[in-house]
Amino acid sequence: MTSAALNIAVLYPDLLNLYGDRGNARALERRCTARGIDALVTAVNIGDDWSPQSADIILAGGGQDREQRRVQADLQRRGSALRDYVDDDGVVLAVCGGFQLFGNHYRGWDGEIMEGIAVFDAVATHPGPSVSRCVGNVVALWEGETVVGFENHGGRTYLNDGQDPLANVVSGFGNNGGDGLEGARVDNAFGTYLHGAVLPKNPHLADRLLQLALQRRYGSDAPELQPIDDRTARRAHAAALHSALSTRDSRESRLGRRFA
Ligand code: GLN
Repeated sequence: MTSAALNIAVLYPDLLNLYGDRGNARALERRCTARGIDALVTAVNIGDDWSPQSADIILAGGGQDREQRRVQADLQRRGSALRDYVDDDGVVLAVCGGFQLFGNHYRGWDGEIMEGIAVFDAVATHPGPSVSRCVGNVVALWEGETVVGFENHGGRTYLNDGQDPLANVVSGFGNNGGDGLEGARVDNAFGTYLHGAVLPKNPHLADRLLQLALQRRYGSDAPELQPIDDRTARRAHAAALHSALSTRDSRESRLGRRFA
């Protein structure tokens, strides 16, 4: 087979880019290039003439309520094409504000509902400005491995019955700080609250997205993902893990002291 290629689309990169979420595209691109796979990254902005059918991986980052409101109508008009793409095993990574809008709806801090595109069977609700936000480092268990990231969200996501989470929280809040669940997964669509950006410091998750996209596009001709020198990414993962777990341990020992 001649060299493989992947099209990576980033939805609203100027508006949904909290904590450098656009870095997810850079990480995928870099991991492709290091293996001789061509990666073409396309920005999709409000009003652009673009079809999800041209994509192998679609990324949506986080944004505050104001930015979410700005993209919402445009995302809605693409909703059915995006759902078809997911039904056709298209790969998606939607982070935080993007994750909320890929659910059924998000009720923002002012109580107004923003309709989502219902890729995930989940609703997100912001309990209002007087309630603390979910902020800090997160560690979650995903398929027996750790994923790490940073979260900062007021909205709480609740998965409806039958909707699988992406991962289970080890440390941090995750979807809502109550049920121990992090993110959601439908076919090859991944939703998560993890910023970071998440893929540069979770190389195993990045490779999973690439692998799924290559399999979908090339079937049995899909190239194997060869190991690459990603020591920096693995060090970033280890450092984030250490920092998240030591914050949790010191918080627990403070609480333990107080309530002992
Ligand atoms: N605006 C949303 C919230 O606060 C999402 C924030 C984010 O993407 N970090 O819940």
